Amino acid sequence: MALWENNVRTVEPYVPGEQPSFPDMIKLNTNENPYPPAPGVAAVLKGFDTDVLRRYPKPDAHELAEQLAKEYNVGFNNVFVGVGSDDVLGTAFLTFFKGRLPILFPDITYSFYPVWAELYGIPYETPAVDEDFRIRKEDYYQMNGGIVIANPNAPTTIAEPLSFIEDIVRHNADSVVIVDEAYIDFGGESALELTKKYENLLVVRTFSKSRSMAGMRIGFAIGSEKLISYMMAVRNSYNSYTMTTLSILCGAESLKDRGYFTKTVERIKETRKRSVPELEKLGFKVLDSSANFLFVSHEKAAAKEIFEKLKEKHIFVRYFAKPRIDNYLRITVGTDEEMDRLFAALREIL
Ligand SMILES: *Cc1c(COP(=O)(O)O)cnc(C)c1O
Repeated sequence: MALWENNVRTVEPYVPGEQPSFPDMIKLNTNENPYPPAPGVAAVLKGFDTDVLRRYPKPDAHELAEQLAKEYNVGFNNVFVGVGSDDVLGTAFLTFFKGRLPILFPDITYSFYPVWAELYGIPYETPAVDEDFRIRKEDYYQMNGGIVIANPNAPTTIAEPLSFIEDIVRHNADSVVIVDEAYIDFGGESALELTKKYENLLVVRTFSKSRSMAGMRIGFAIGSEKLISYMMAVRNSYNSYTMTTLSILCGAESLKDRGYFTKTVERIKETRKRSVPELEKLGFKVLDSSANFLFVSHEKAAAKEIFEKLKEKHIFVRYFAKPRIDNYLRITVGTDEEMDRLFAALREIL
């Protein structure tokens, strides 16, 4: 090792699902939306005057933050916008978690949380979810440096009721509590209203799943003006222009079409509903999902083998070689046609 390498910040990075590109593939491995973004987004791109790109974007992502404030009935200063919710969550970790006490999040949850904690040198503990993969709220009633809960949780798909989230927030007036609602549009109760009651509660959302815009990279947080201004100060200390002009305009446009949004979310929920008995018929145990994906394990066949056999057929699902969940598959809910092809392939494999 060269001496300069002693000064390198080394991290074990988060590993996202693969992005293969086969013309015939069925891609159900990264919880992307099978439907296109709202038609207005295509119209913005088509009519886009590139001369606008000479200018820097508005550092406060004005049109987008304003539209978000309107949509969620909060003030402009209650909104923080970032490059996907990963950027928003990373900024929140950096901003709010510099205490000596460990932050807490479940042992089975979004696997980016421990990566940010490691990157920023934040101590953390991961209370185990129970046998049924349910979060035990009492585990979060101990002294801590902050709390992060994904609701619905990933990859378990389980949503906890609003009263459960409020109990955790109420027991933690001395920490910042982050609720990651990446999947809330597909089920469960949002904690958004609670941000008006609890100054220390931050709700984080994304355009990547329910708004079909993973490629545009838009995420946002809603919280008290105090929380948001602390995040802005940190963000403006390393990059003032995180949002591109295009993502600001396309994001704002997407919010204007509520009808399309509701229609596509409902369609995914219907496909999810009809997929459960199909998978059960094939011998899978399916957890009760409030998300746009299903978490399943087979009574006889090993998850890893099914995962690999599906891959040979260019059907991509997600497999995690991790303790407690290494016999599960995470399957994104696609279109009805995609799911039918998945079921046919599974019938062959099994
Ligand atoms: C997908 C996901 C995110 C991040 O999505 P972005 O594309 O960065 O907005 C955050 N949290 C959870 C739990 C997710 O599944």
